[in-house]
Amino acid sequence: MAADGGKPRVVVVGGGIGGALLAKTLQPDADVVLLDPKDYLEINWAELRSMVEPSFAERSLIYHTDYLTTATIVTSTAVNITEHAVLTADGQSLAYDFLVVATGHVMTSSGNRTGRLTEFQSDNEKIKSSESVLIIGGGPTGVELAAEIAVDYPEKKVTLVHRGSRLLEFIDKKASKKCLDWLTSKKVDVLFQQSVDLGSLSNTEKFYKTSSGETITADCHFVCIGKPLSSSWLHDTILKESLDNKGRIMVEKDLRVKGYNNIFAIGDITDIPEIKQGYLAQKHALLVAKNLKLLMKGPPASKLATYSTGYPLALVSLGRNEGLAQLPFVTLTGCIPGMIKSRDLFVSKTRKQMGLNA
Ligand SMILES: Cc1cc2nc3c(=O)[nH]c(=O)nc-3n(C[C@H](O)[C@H](O)[C@H](O)COP(=O)(O)OP(=O)(O)OC[C@H]3O[C@@H](n4cnc5c(N)ncnc54)[C@H](O)[C@@H]3O)c2cc1C
Repeated sequence: MAADGGKPRVVVVGGGIGGALLAKTLQPDADVVLLDPKDYLEINWAELRSMVEPSFAERSLIYHTDYLTTATIVTSTAVNITEHAVLTADGQSLAYDFLVVATGHVMTSSGNRTGRLTEFQSDNEKIKSSESVLIIGGGPTGVELAAEIAVDYPEKKVTLVHRGSRLLEFIDKKASKKCLDWLTSKKVDVLFQQSVDLGSLSNTEKFYKTSSGETITADCHFVCIGKPLSSSWLHDTILKESLDNKGRIMVEKDLRVKGYNNIFAIGDITDIPEIKQGYLAQKHALLVAKNLKLLMKGPPASKLATYSTGYPLALVSLGRNEGLAQLPFVTLTGCIPGMIKSRDLFVSKTRKQMGLNA
């Protein structure tokens, strides 16, 4: 119970995969405030399909107002945290009884849903009007984009340049090799251990020099390198001592930030030793919702729930019908992982989780 006798105030910073589900789950039990610079939740893993089929984004970009009924939505960015409040870029002070930090990665896309739809439209125009496309980065984003273009536009020449020695370095070597074989079978040229100077990129230049002196010719390019964590804003806050040397928030097993009883962190921003994935951010969200419900009743009668990491699972889509799955003891490529992820990219499942029509 809050000091004024009302429901306790829970401020959730970040309306991505984890923060959005937490805010939605908790809204019947608490006075929830969701703080996010965007007016929508983006299902990130639908991003690459939306670049080849912009209408796909109509279901994967969800206004926060579509799933939050009683929670308050504040459209701004957190710039500071004190013992009692979150301060926003537009000068608001959001008092909290409990705080959850779920800021994942730095946001680089449009802050409004309409603007984001336009971004997908213009990416699609760029792909359609090009005969050749250069993709920079061989992580999940670069690989999934190369696959989407190779499947939907097989006549286009796709080149992928990767700084590392194998694709998808977060999965095992056998799975990386299967992914490379699949891309090669679709005539994607993959260049390893080379990089392109990002500072030299322009939208008019068609010749790209790599670090090893090779020249790639392409009508357009897409930069698909990992985005930095959104934690630099925490450097001057009460949580500055709770960051590890990679800028991740150190959490206890119950997902409370180390040293704090009423502050939690979830999702990619945490130092939990696991592959950073949305389905895990959702697990964190549900666990923290459970713990907050216990704490909001007063000193918890039972112990808080704790989180434990599982076997590292990974599913990478390879165009509309095929995929690659790293499961316990086996790696699969082809139609079976494709059936699980690639057709709908879990958009229906995620929408249902948010209480919406598939
Ligand atoms: C191409 C691609 C494919 C993927 N495929 C899969 C997949 O198949 N399965 C899977 O499980 N995962 C997948 N992932 C990973 C998944 O998207 C992330 O793990 C997940 O989004 C992390 O959720 P999060 O809530 O921690 O952060 P995010 O979803 O990144 O959300 C962070 C939110 O915080 C907000 N924010 C940032 N800074 C501030 C601030 N200072 N103040 C207020 N708000 C702030 C942002 O606007 C954003 O809304 C994929 C990711 C990509 C990019």
